[in-house]
Parts: sequence; structure tokens; C-alpha cells
Amino acid sequence: MINFKKQVLETFTKYAQIESGSDFKSQSTPSTQTQVEFAKILKADLEKLGLQDIKLASTCHLTAKLPANVDGKYPVVGFLAHMDTYPEGTIGRQVKVCLHPNYKGGDLVINKELGVILKPELSPALKKCIGHDLITSAGDTLLGTDDKAGIAIIMEMLKYLIAHPEIKHGDIRIAFTPDEEIARGPDNFDVPAFGADFAYTLDGECGDGIAYENFNAATVNISVKGVLAHPGQAKGIMENPVRILADIISKWPENKLAETTEGRQGFLTFIDSKADFTTATASAMVRSFEETELHAMVKELEDIIADIRKKYPGSEIKADTTYTYKNMRPVIDKNPMAVKLAKEAFKECGLVSEGSPIRGGTDGARLTYMGLITPNLDAGYATPHGPFEWASLDQMSKIINALICLCEKITKLG
Ligand SMILES: [Zn+2]
Repeated sequence: MINFKKQVLETFTKYAQIESGSDFKSQSTPSTQTQVEFAKILKADLEKLGLQDIKLASTCHLTAKLPANVDGKYPVVGFLAHMDTYPEGTIGRQVKVCLHPNYKGGDLVINKELGVILKPELSPALKKCIGHDLITSAGDTLLGTDDKAGIAIIMEMLKYLIAHPEIKHGDIRIAFTPDEEIARGPDNFDVPAFGADFAYTLDGECGDGIAYENFNAATVNISVKGVLAHPGQAKGIMENPVRILADIISKWPENKLAETTEGRQGFLTFIDSKADFTTATASAMVRSFEETELHAMVKELEDIIADIRKKYPGSEIKADTTYTYKNMRPVIDKNPMAVKLAKEAFKECGLVSEGSPIRGGTDGARLTYMGLITPNLDAGYATPHGPFEWASLDQMSKIINALICLCEKITKLG
């Protein structure tokens, strides 16, 4: 097992200091100019390494190829990580990377003065990292290991493979993508041009292994046009959208909400609502590992709305459903090679290989349905999107070993 801790810390620190937050409110592609600037730095680093076919698309997708160093036809593997960090937490501020060598267990003191102290109960992965060298921010920003840890891991894997031609590998494709945090990552990703047979996102949490099961997702948008009347003379006339919306929302069963479900249970949760005397709108997100359950929940909400329509016959109440992403598991079950190879490599390098289902989506889920099978791999970070974000250098080092092992395995398929 090669120790990559020093190198991966150095590479990560360099990238962490470059601002690259995405922006929910932006309509442009990519959502922020800082991502373009970051992509240019990554492009220069890939050029320095001597990669080929390096392309930075106008959509800010950066792709490159490390050509095979062995004859014969082997599957082309891709590795992806996202360049953006979570929108809030770094804008206009520089991330300072702090090293906590040899974590002894107990509270992880990130910033005593600011009271940023992480309790192991809030981040169960901590208990599995006793003796590890951990990194955090200075507690006044997020750290950005989501997903710059993924980028640093891929970069160190490339450097090692280039420096060690005795390790045989087929064609390897790399992609660094924008706007994952605002769910626009796979938009404009050119799967045929990428040319990989299967790929992996390096964007999982510490100890989470290989994840290849995620939610099916739908959004239901509700709109209400009520019947307006002067409140003083409204009896028998007014149909008040504020009340109609409240009726709909309150009828949804309490045991099927985000805050009352866990594990493999699905849910429907209202994420937005606006109402006045004339109109009202609301949206609900629906999530389930099973498509049948997802459709059943959408139907249940539609039935509630149908009942409410009878109560308010003069009003116009509409519900529009869009299905946004799907569980990749059924596709993986039919094409198990990517998961099988990763599991073997992770096991050999002493990493947890079996991942738990992701209660969310991943870029990989959408890519899988765009034709590129893409499970998600552990990238060594935990509690992202805020000042409690941390990562284990020991874990990241093991993951780099596992990726090298995985690339080698592909040349032994036959
Ligand atoms: Zn991420």
C-alpha cells in the first residue's frame, strides 16, 4: 500500500484555496465564472501531466484522456469529480485547510473561539477514523472536500500511473464537471464524446464504499386560482387560495414526510408555498427507491387534490408532475461489471466495499440513464456543506490505491 497522504494534502490544499462555489440563482452555464477560472487551472495541471485530448467545453466540462500503456482491447474507464462547492459558505472568502494529525477520538475541535466543535455523534464516520490524519477548514468556511477531495484523488492516481509505466492500464478518461451542487452537473455532458464504457464519480462520504442505488425523484407543482370576494360580503362566495393550499398540505399523511422517514422509506415533502387572496402555488418533492412507491405517492397527492376540488368547485386547482431522476440500481443489476471491479479493488485495499443506498440523487444516476453507467465511490469526506466538513487523509490515500488497483484489474479481464 502506497502512502499518498502528503501529496493528496498538497494537491487538495491548492484546489481548496480557489473559490468555485456554484449558484442556485444563476441562469448562466456554468452558474458561476469562478468555476471557469478553476477549470482553467485544472486544465493546465492536466497538460503538465501530459494527458491527451484535453478539452474545456464552453459549458465548463473539462475532459481528458490517459492513453493505454498496454496493447489489446480493454474497456475504457472514466473517473469524474465535480468542481463546484456548495453555494453558501465560501463566496468571497478563502478556505484555510487545517491539519489534525493522529485523531484520538472524541470531539473534533475545528475552531474553539467560534464554537465550531464536532461531536462524534453528529458524524458517525469519525469513530472509524481514530489514528487518522484529518483535515478541516478553520471553521469559518466549508472545506470543499465535496468534491475537491475527488479531484485531488483522481489527480494523484494519474500522477502515480504516469510515473509508474510498469502498472498496466487501458484508456482512462477523466471529467471534471460543474454545477453538481445545484443539480445541473450532467446537463450538457457529452456521453458519446467522453467515450468511456463505464465510469465512477468520486463523490461519496467517508466509509460509504460503492453506492449504486439512489432515489427515484419527482416534483409536483400545485397551482390554485380561487374565487375572490370582498371579505365583508364573502359568505358562500369566497374560495380562499390560502386556505385551499393549507387544506391540501395538511391532508398529507404525517408518516410519509422527510422528517419522519429513514433507511429505505420514501417520502413526500412540501418545499415551497406562496398564497394570497387570488392565487396560490406550492411544490412537493417526492422520493422513493421503488418506482411503484413513487407513483403511488404522486397518485395519493392527486387524490387528495381531487377531493379538495369537490370542496371548492369554483376554483381551479392544478397539479403537474415532473420526474427528475431515477434509481440507477435496475441498470446496474443488468450491467454489474463496474460495481464488481470497484468492490474487488476496495476490498483489496482495506476499504468498505458495500455502500448503503443514497437518500438522494447523484450525477452518476443521471449519467447512467444517459448511457454511461456511473456508480459513486467514497471520496473520504464527511458532513459536507458547512463548517463541520472534514476528511481523512488516510482514507483518501487508500482510495487512490484502490483506483490504481481497479485500473490494473481492467487489463486482467478476459
Ligand atoms: Zn458532491
